[in-house]
Amino acid sequence: MGPPGAGKGTQGALLAEWLAIPRYATGDILRAARRADTPLGRQARRYMDAGELVPDAVVLDLVVEVLDGDEAENGYVLDGFPRTVTQARGLADLLAARGEQLDAVIYLEVPDEELQRRMAGRAAVEDRADDTPETIRHRLGVYRQATEPVLRWYRESDVSVIDVVGVGTVADIQAEIRSRLAM
Ligand code: AMP
Repeated sequence: MGPPGAGKGTQGALLAEWLAIPRYATGDILRAARRADTPLGRQARRYMDAGELVPDAVVLDLVVEVLDGDEAENGYVLDGFPRTVTQARGLADLLAARGEQLDAVIYLEVPDEELQRRMAGRAAVEDRADDTPETIRHRLGVYRQATEPVLRWYRESDVSVIDVVGVGTVADIQAEIRSRLAM
C-alpha cells in the first residue's frame, strides 16, 4: 500500500520476482482492459481519467476473477488493492473462503512534495492521462480520504503492517522491504 507515486509498482514487481510469485496490480489490469476496450475497460475509463477510484464492486469482481485463475501455490503480491475499507473487507472474505491469509501489508511512506514530483515525471514518460497536475492532486486527496482508513483498519487487525520509508534508491528500499519481511 501507499499513495500514488510511492513506488508500489516498482517495489511490488521486485518483491514478486524475489519471491518467485505473481504480482496482481489492479491499476495495470484496469489499464490493460482499457487498451483492449473490454466492457471492464469501458466501465473503468471515466473514473481513472478523473483520478477517482473505480467502484468497489467492479474492482472486487476483477480480483475474484484474477484469484480464481491463480495457480500459484506460494502466494502473490497484491499491488494497489485494497484501496477502500469495503475492498479490504471483501478481500478478507475472499481469503477466508480460500483458506488463505495475508502475511503482511507493506506500507510505502513518501512525503507529498516528493509524490507530486515523481508523478509529474511519470506523466512525461508513461503518457498517463491520470498524471496531470490537477488529477495528481485529486488522486492524493482520494488516497487520504478513502485509502488511509484501510491502513488504520489493518493496524487495528492482527495483520502485520510493515512501514517502509519509500524515499531513497529503489535498491535500498527493496532491501529494506525484504529484510523486514524476513523478520
Ligand atoms: P494505479 O496504477 O494503482 O495508480 O491505479 C490507477 C487508477 O486505476 C486509479 O487512480 C484508479 O482509478 C484505478 N484503480 C486501481 N486500483 C484500484 C482499486 N483497488 N480500487 C479502485 N480503483 C482502482
